[in-house]
Amino acid sequence: MRAWQTRAPGPLSRRPLHLTERPQPAPGPGELLVAVAACGVCRTDLHVVTGDLPVHRPGVVPGHEVVGEVAATGAGVSRFRPGDRVGVAWLRETCGACAYCRRGAENLCPHSRYTGWDADGGYADLTTVGEEYAYRLPPGYSDAELAPLLCAGIIGYRALRRADLPPGGRLGIYGFGASAHLTAQVALAEGATVHVLTRSAGARRLALDLGASSAGDAYAAPPEPLDAAVLFAPVGDLVPVALAALDRGGTLAVAGIHLSDIPALDYQRHLFQERTLRSVTSNTRQDGRALLRFAGEHRLRVAVTPYPLDAADRALADLEADRVTGAAVLVP
Ligand SMILES: [Zn+2]
Ligand SMILES: [Zn+2]
Repeated sequence: MRAWQTRAPGPLSRRPLHLTERPQPAPGPGELLVAVAACGVCRTDLHVVTGDLPVHRPGVVPGHEVVGEVAATGAGVSRFRPGDRVGVAWLRETCGACAYCRRGAENLCPHSRYTGWDADGGYADLTTVGEEYAYRLPPGYSDAELAPLLCAGIIGYRALRRADLPPGGRLGIYGFGASAHLTAQVALAEGATVHVLTRSAGARRLALDLGASSAGDAYAAPPEPLDAAVLFAPVGDLVPVALAALDRGGTLAVAGIHLSDIPALDYQRHLFQERTLRSVTSNTRQDGRALLRFAGEHRLRVAVTPYPLDAADRALADLEADRVTGAAVLVP
């Protein structure tokens, strides 16, 4: 099978990814072998490939927004059968026994493992997943439309919950890529007023088209104070900007796994009046099921830019340069 391997993480100009021919993986006990029909290209893949994130598995195959068909099952599999359409996401394994797992916060499990970082992911013709971590997918979407839901959608959904947006509240969204354009639709469907702040003119057009009340530059003030905000752009400089845009008691959730340095905060301008700054770490399987259920009940518009599997390096370069509107998706 074809698979992209991360040889030596570093800048994309040094071509850290290589397209290789490898033997097919075999599903272990409790695992599914999945024939990849679509794999989303996530900013986290960029962090894995360029070395922003430490190497967990040398030569790893990136990709954790996989939609495919079960091609074979390992010993003891009972929830899925060959031919089922499944989703493979970032959260790959948790211990189930630690204090975090036992209190329903498996996203914080210190023993957790991740697809496309600790184990080979979906930039390939085939991949594997434990059946306990595979998702059933809602009908009414193409494979390429479903792929971005599996990380961009799920993480955005958790970030929105972490932002504590009150019913009918005013939400600010900083950065407007794959995750943000799905999160905005969830918030709008739930009755929020959404203001989008992003440097990309194309993304601002998409935001207004999807129903945002305003779309301005990332560093501009929104037209009204915000009850909650989610920072999707991996830009620490925007943290004080977004905190200053919050109304009293507002919450800013930072959605990314990686953020550039946050400049010094001014207590009065950025935090006093009970403003809250929160991070978002991965997600639980419950978050994943909730987002996919929501997507089954509300038809989300998923803006997809397809690339052939052979062009994964180009897709990552386009993502890094903000040349992708919506979500880039590899289609083998
Ligand atoms: Zn655990
Ligand atoms: Zn991701």
